[in-house]
This record gives sequence, structure tokens and C-alpha cells, in this order.
Amino acid sequence: MSFDLLDLAALHGAEQVAFVADEETGLRAIVAIHSTVLGPGLGGTRFYPFTSEHDALVDVLRLARGMTYKHAVCGNDLGGGKAVIIGDPRATRTDDLMLAYARFVDRLGGRYLTAEDVGTTQADMDLLRSVTPHVTGTSEALGGSGDPSPATAWGVYHALRAVAERLWDDNALDGRHVAIAGIGKVGSALARHLTDAGCRLTLADVRGDVATALARELGASVADPDAIQQIECDVLSPCALGATINERSIPELRCAAICGCANNQLATGADGERLAAAGVLYAPDYVANAGGVINIADELRDDGYDHERAWRRVETIHDTLLRVFAAADDEGITPADAADRIAERRIAAAQPS
Ligand code: NAD
Repeated sequence: MSFDLLDLAALHGAEQVAFVADEETGLRAIVAIHSTVLGPGLGGTRFYPFTSEHDALVDVLRLARGMTYKHAVCGNDLGGGKAVIIGDPRATRTDDLMLAYARFVDRLGGRYLTAEDVGTTQADMDLLRSVTPHVTGTSEALGGSGDPSPATAWGVYHALRAVAERLWDDNALDGRHVAIAGIGKVGSALARHLTDAGCRLTLADVRGDVATALARELGASVADPDAIQQIECDVLSPCALGATINERSIPELRCAAICGCANNQLATGADGERLAAAGVLYAPDYVANAGGVINIADELRDDGYDHERAWRRVETIHDTLLRVFAAADDEGITPADAADRIAERRIAAAQPS
């Protein structure tokens, strides 16, 4: 390994980075533990055909750091961690490879707890559990909390209520027009909650047939995925890819607020300032989309996972987001920066002296 890689880890402030290359199964994976100040590092395993090990390392370090902030702001007693398995899961995933990966996670002794992410499934988590206890998001039959997407959608719904309270002094959403970009697992569940709440919806997805079918069922409109960001609406809800809010898209926005589940919605830190200058309220992504990790954290309680209790805690995203907006006002900074500061202060206060 070159010193370049060590510098990279130091630059991202990682506590520990672990690599594995297993000749027998072809497993090549990296676990990054960014912080264990608040608890063990918990974050998903991304199975993805990175173009280089360098790219995989940069991604896992960035994602692990993001998990530290997400857990800290939502009140989880957990730290930041993430893992990547390098390869195309459709071509290289075998049970033996996943079992070798489970042994790797197990050897970290519980400093890193894994979960599902892009390219891995709940069935994979169930398989890992046969080797190591350090896995979350297993199926409910195994005592886990299952697919995190419904809880994530429930959390974004409560974030939207906080946005409404902030903008219109009333957290009722009936009559509000929400444009959802991406109606996959989270976006479609969110659309149903918003329909129940009396919202008017515009839906877009690159899978046009899926958007049309859901719109027909819910009585919503459909927009072209390339045009959804320019729709005049109360709230734009990015629920597909990251970096869609950027220097190019911000001048075209015609919404009062942005609140969705996609990770890393802002292309750069400067986009938070650009949104504020454009008068668009931004609900920081990792605050709005923490429902999944709040739900998963409930699995780690001594008395085991309780769906009702977990979902009540997901609803606290409403109050957390209002606190972020208030801190942004008090400190004269953007909501994105305010969320970061809240996380950093909680971690600093818990840091052993
Ligand atoms: P998903 O893959 O089920 O859904 C994504 C949807 O976006 C798909 O329907 C896809 O066709 C659509 N899409 C892709 N590109 C698009 C584009 N350019 N315009 C419009 N639609 C497009 O994923 P998901 O689990 O619903 O997650 C959505 C986002 O939320 C991701 O960024 C994910 O990282 C993030 N997130 C998800 C969870 C969770 O619990 N699932 C938790 C936190 C964050």
C-alpha cells in the first residue's frame, strides 16, 4: 500500500480502515470506521464495480464519515462506518464470497456493524448473520428490522411536516404540491403517505411506466425526469440520485423547499449557500433520511426490536429538523452547516478527555 492511501484515510479522519483480499473466493473489500465515539460504527455494505481500489477507498471513507454525522444528529448512540465490496454483484457474488466477507466483519470484533446498501440485500444480511452477530437489517424472522425503506419514507414524511411548519406555520400538508423525483422503494412509500395527508403530487422516474402506474393509482401527475426540478411546486423531494442540486439546477428551481431521501443531494458545500441565496429552504439530506438508521438502531436494544417503538422514534425527525432550522437562524448559517455543527458538538461532548 502506498502512503497516498494512508494520507487519504487521515484526511477523512478515519479511526480505522481494514482491507481484505481473499484468494479463494475473490473477495476484495474495505471497511472504514470513521468514529466510534458515540458507539460502534454502523453503516451498510456497498457491493459495486468501482473502477479502481482508490475510488473504492475514497467512497468508503466519505460514506463512513457521513454515517457519523447521520447517527449523531438523529440521536443514535452509534458511530460512523461503511464497507465496500469491489465487484459487480451480478457477476461476482457467491455465497462463499459473502461468507468470507462475514468472517472479515466478525474479526473487527463489533467495532463495525454492517447493514444492507446498494448491491446487497436483506437475504445477504441473513446469510452474514449465520457467521457473525455484527450485522443489522436482517429479516424480522431473525430478530431484525427488515427493509429500512418504509422507515426512511416515514421519516421523510415527518421531515416534510417540519418544513411545512417552518415555512407556513402549520405542519399540515393537505393541499401542498410535492414533486417527487424517483419513486423507488422510498419515493413510492413517501408518495402514499403524502397522498393520505391530502397532498397534490407530481411524480417522475426514469422508469416511466412505473411512474405512470403509481400516478394513476394515487391520482397524481407525471413529469419527465429531466424536467421535474423545474416544476412549480411547494416542495421538491429528490428520492433518486445524489448531486442533483447544483450550480446548474438551482437557478431553475421553482419550489419553496427541498426535502427528500436521496443521499448527498448537494453537489458541493457551496450549493447550500446558493439555495439560501435563492430563498429555497433545504432540509439536510442526512437529517431527513435518517428513518432507516433510527429503525435499525432499535434492533440493538437489549430487549430486541420493537416496530412501534422504532417508528415513534423515526417521527422525532420532525423536531430534529426544526432544531436544525433554528440553529441555522441563531448562528446565521445554512441548515446544512447547522446540521454538521450539531453533530460535531454532540461528538465533541462525548469525546473521552
Ligand atoms: P431505489 O433504487 O428503490 O429507487 C430509486 C429510484 O430512482 C428508482 O425507481 C429509479 O428508477 C429512479 N431513478 C434513477 N435515476 C433517476 C433520475 N435521474 N430521475 C428520476 N428517477 C430516477 O432506491 P431507494 O431505496 O428508494 O433510495 C432512493 C435514494 O435514497 C438513494 O439515493 C438512497 O441512497 C437514498 N436512501 C435510501 C434509504 C433507504 O432506506 N432505502 C435510506 C437513506 C437514503
